[in-house]
Amino acid sequence: MAVFSNFIGGEQVAGTQTVRNINPSNTDEVIGEFASGTAADVATAVAAAKAAFPAWSRTTPQERYDILKKASDEVLARKEELGRILSREEGKILAEGIGEAARAGQILAFFAGECLRLAGENVPSVRPGIGVEMTREAIGVVALITPWNFPIAIPAWKIAPALAYGNCVVIKPAELVPHSTWALVDILHRSGLPKGVLNLVMGKGSVVGQAMLEHPDVAALSFTGSVATGRKLAAACVAANPMKKFQLEMGGKNPLVILDDADLEVAVASAANGAFFSTGQRCTASSRLIVTEKVHNRFVDALTEKVKALVVDDALKLGSHIGPVVDQAQFDQDERYLEIGRKEGAKLHWGGERLNRATPGFYLQPALFTEVGNSMRIAREEIFGPVAAVIRVKDYDEALAVANDTEFGLSAGICTTNLKYATHFKRNSEAGMVMVNLPTAGVDYHVPFGGRKASSFGPREQGAYAREFYTMVKTSYTLAG
Ligand code: NAD
Repeated sequence: MAVFSNFIGGEQVAGTQTVRNINPSNTDEVIGEFASGTAADVATAVAAAKAAFPAWSRTTPQERYDILKKASDEVLARKEELGRILSREEGKILAEGIGEAARAGQILAFFAGECLRLAGENVPSVRPGIGVEMTREAIGVVALITPWNFPIAIPAWKIAPALAYGNCVVIKPAELVPHSTWALVDILHRSGLPKGVLNLVMGKGSVVGQAMLEHPDVAALSFTGSVATGRKLAAACVAANPMKKFQLEMGGKNPLVILDDADLEVAVASAANGAFFSTGQRCTASSRLIVTEKVHNRFVDALTEKVKALVVDDALKLGSHIGPVVDQAQFDQDERYLEIGRKEGAKLHWGGERLNRATPGFYLQPALFTEVGNSMRIAREEIFGPVAAVIRVKDYDEALAVANDTEFGLSAGICTTNLKYATHFKRNSEAGMVMVNLPTAGVDYHVPFGGRKASSFGPREQGAYAREFYTMVKTSYTLAG
């Protein structure tokens, strides 16, 4: 059985304990034994990062560019293999796994370029004879805590800017999917990172994550995960002495509005993709389909036909459209919400059955609820599975009001051929990302990503906006003499 160690101070350090990584498409298959770190491992990793910081933060942009670009080249060259690793541990289909691995490579290349683009500002003082400069500096040791649903892209979009702007890193991936992050960290090490600049400590949130939050030498935390965990971590960052800078990306209950005038084919494709691809396990999933009266029945019929044709099977099997749910706990949560929806009076229009396939896995038929009220729990709480709720509304005004009537605000979409509604929706949606005639999921890597309300807190991730979190601004005054 393959055994995977933590990376601490540039060395592979075996764990005193390990956990088994299981393939959700075939639970008989153990991918490997992965180190499960301790608070002592975190302390060693933070000390290594702290020791590496003075030299790393003073490297030239060219040195950092070269390392990130080399890592990008290797990730892109190995995208099929990395995609397979990802799909095997997370359960999204191979095409999505390869696409995500390629995305990680593109992100590394983008932030290689950012090393060269970081500039300051120079302004005249309001006082005579004085010059004012604003420069950006690295923060120090940054803790990164990531979820299981994008096992290589999210680590890449946190590690790459952290390193590009001169920080040192300790990263803890989600316990369910350590292999993808391990492979990424291995590539970055072989691309020439000095010892201690990037440390990987795998293991439990309550042990490794907690120790990262309690460590006084961790200056900042970038977290992606659930709202409940995010809240807890934010409180810990504020309570710490000194306080830690933090950035949180959390859940969603993303609306996709379908108006009478929508191109039905576009609307159905957007809904099927947004709600069910990646097994619905995306923070940007279209879990609320808000449909105006006149098109409601036609839309539901066409979407049902489309969804019936989707093949749910082994993530690595050619021809699968949807892979398994990630694990038993998430499967139980999905089933619980199916029951809650039925009890609340929604109609389970199609799907929701457990499926048997050639191998034992967490296979769940995509589920479509109709007759859903926006106050029902299935319309308000993030299920994080292949479950979508159709909400019938009278007109555009009601659709917009329902779309915004949520504690979340990550992504929102509208399908319409009317420019007036598209423009109005873009202006009035209370989400951080708005899509017109597109699924709520699926974004570019060179522009900011993030939400509003309970979905996000702090500066945006990705694109050049990432510098807001990974740098701090210094204002210097010089008497010109
Ligand atoms: P989670 O909150 O359970 O875990 C996220 C990470 O936090 C994991 O690495 C976990 O080990 C760690 N953690 C848990 N408890 C901790 C603690 N007490 N101290 C420190 N670390 C701790 O989330 P998940 O189930 O892995 O991921 C699913 C969630 O992530 C969903 O809510 C989804 O919407 C969200 N998500 C958001 C985005 C986004 O960018 N907005 C992207 C992907 C996923």
